[in-house]
Amino acid sequence: MLEIRNLVCRYGKVTALKGISLTVPEKQLVVLVGANGAGKSTTLRAISGLVPAASGGIFFCGQEITGMSASRILSLGIAHCPEGRRVFPHMTVLENLEMGCYLRSDGKEISSDLDRIFSLFPRLAERRKQVAGTLSGGEQQMLAIGRAMMSRPKLIMFDEPSLGLAPNIVEQTFAIIQSIRESGTTVLMVEQNAYAALDMCNYAYLLEAGSMVLEGPGEKLINDPHVREAYLGAG
Ligand code: ATP
Repeated sequence: MLEIRNLVCRYGKVTALKGISLTVPEKQLVVLVGANGAGKSTTLRAISGLVPAASGGIFFCGQEITGMSASRILSLGIAHCPEGRRVFPHMTVLENLEMGCYLRSDGKEISSDLDRIFSLFPRLAERRKQVAGTLSGGEQQMLAIGRAMMSRPKLIMFDEPSLGLAPNIVEQTFAIIQSIRESGTTVLMVEQNAYAALDMCNYAYLLEAGSMVLEGPGEKLINDPHVREAYLGAG
């Protein structure tokens, strides 16, 4: 469904991605792990059209999307749930969710999607008129996920969904991400919580200093001595 070939991205003189390749098959959950600054967020931002490619290509459902605008990429079915949640703090829960579907005009289906999101996240339903900035961290994360789902994406990308959340909320968040995949949406996730991410994925990539250094099913990475020592805190 998504394929990246030899992608290079630069911020001025800093080369954040040094020719990476990655494939996300339809209906699978693929994770990207790596240390701070490895280039994980840049990978997602490049797919969304927020960071330009210096060279290489990005293909989605057989179509090249390299160089397309972010709104065009969103309209093709790629949603991005960014790091740090980034909900609109002065807007209500409902307004934030509506922002997620600003490209859609199918009113009836929008309201049934809203119902679906409110049944998935009852806390958001209770707080639909509350401004987002006053929600707890966990509720803001649910709102960011709900907002991304409102565009009815084929592929949804999560950047560090567990960051800054209490352990029980982290578990809940991962369960929701699993259920999104089970409902048929393809998922690409960046996660620092390497063990949990590797345990739940179909396939994983390890990014170090802008290069892919290892890939395989989650258990292959979990059992890899380098991954165990550097990312899983095991000897
Ligand atoms: P983190 O988990 O800390 O976000 P990451 O793996 O997602 O790490 P990126 O944020 O993609 O890493 O950053 C990759 C490299 O690009 C780093 O060296 C970072 O300092 C640099 N970088 C990221 N954003 C910018 C920017 N806007 N301007 C300049 N350099 C940047």
